[in-house]
Amino acid sequence: MIPYGKQFLDNLDIKAVVDALKSDFLTTGPRVKEFEDAFAANIGSKYAVAVSNGTAALHLACLASGLKAGEKSITSPITFAASANCALYCGAKPAFADIDEDGLIDPQLVKKAISKKTKVIIPVDYSGIPCELDAIREIADEKGLTVIEDAAHALGAKYKKTVIGDCTYSDMTIFSFHPVKHITTGEGGMVTTNSKELCERLRLIRSHGITKDPKKISDKEGPWHQEMQELGFNYRLTDIQCALGISQLKKLPSFMKKRLAIAKRYDEAFKGNENIAIYEGAKDLLNAYHLYVIKVKDSTTRLRLFNALKSKGILCQVHYLPVYLHPYYGGLGYKEGCCPKAERFYERILSLPMYPALADEEQYRVIESVNGFF
Ligand SMILES: *Cc1c(COP(=O)(O)O)cnc(C)c1O
Repeated sequence: MIPYGKQFLDNLDIKAVVDALKSDFLTTGPRVKEFEDAFAANIGSKYAVAVSNGTAALHLACLASGLKAGEKSITSPITFAASANCALYCGAKPAFADIDEDGLIDPQLVKKAISKKTKVIIPVDYSGIPCELDAIREIADEKGLTVIEDAAHALGAKYKKTVIGDCTYSDMTIFSFHPVKHITTGEGGMVTTNSKELCERLRLIRSHGITKDPKKISDKEGPWHQEMQELGFNYRLTDIQCALGISQLKKLPSFMKKRLAIAKRYDEAFKGNENIAIYEGAKDLLNAYHLYVIKVKDSTTRLRLFNALKSKGILCQVHYLPVYLHPYYGGLGYKEGCCPKAERFYERILSLPMYPALADEEQYRVIESVNGFF
């Protein structure tokens, strides 16, 4: 079976993990800082905070921004549920702004969705394409809002000479290290920021809200003293996972090269096929191609294509059902028709296999099967 995405691990990764297992620290050890420092240096942010997964990264970022009950976030409907759920975790309510033809949140509709209660904007670099971040930043500055960029798809992407995650346009950017993402730690995530204050809040809440920092706690109790200053969580990433992350990060340039080569080959193969619409590219940005998304005429064609590919051992996926159409969101009162463009987009999309370990012969099989179907 050829999946739509999966990890690539080699003996260096395995050795790094084994070394961590043999070391003194399985968690809260030196590999955490080493991974964070390497990640921040790679991306060009001042700070990076490693966390247990991308969802925890979103939750922590929302908490660090001060999002609270009764307030609102604005995000894209075409994303993984976590981009919206993180607001619900804080007792806040996500609002959805509709998308453009590439599945990216439309800044003008973000602006329209802002109310007195809005506190954060969570743009999603869907499939690996950076959003219109300059426009979103401008709107956020105008209204005093925090931008938490969900770059779970976009490690390695570039936007107007900036690297996604360097936080030129966002207050915080989050990444995921789930096996289908650009690099993996099994489960894992990262928040990058250039704000010392946000970084300190993220670190505090990541670990129960407890600090040992002698500058921040009372000196009455004794040298063993640690203090819980707010209600935090255990969202730490282990040294075992960080060891894998450090090793995987070294491969990011080669992973990107492979993803771009795969995308180019698909582009060329589908350019002449009038039944398929593909991403056209844009000036001043680099798509990191977490996903290779094609659009077909309608939902019936999509279902038939999905099944035809499946019968040939090619397991595609659909990213995503508009978040608010999930039954849980229906129960909260969200209704069909909220974002008509997203609903139409959803009906037509299919994510083809895209991952560094995809062999040439496998990709040719996918191409022949897709073009053959039409
Ligand atoms: C993967 C993903 C997440 C969540 O990451 P996990 O590590 O799986 O918790 C959040 N947002 C988007 C857009 C994602 O694709």
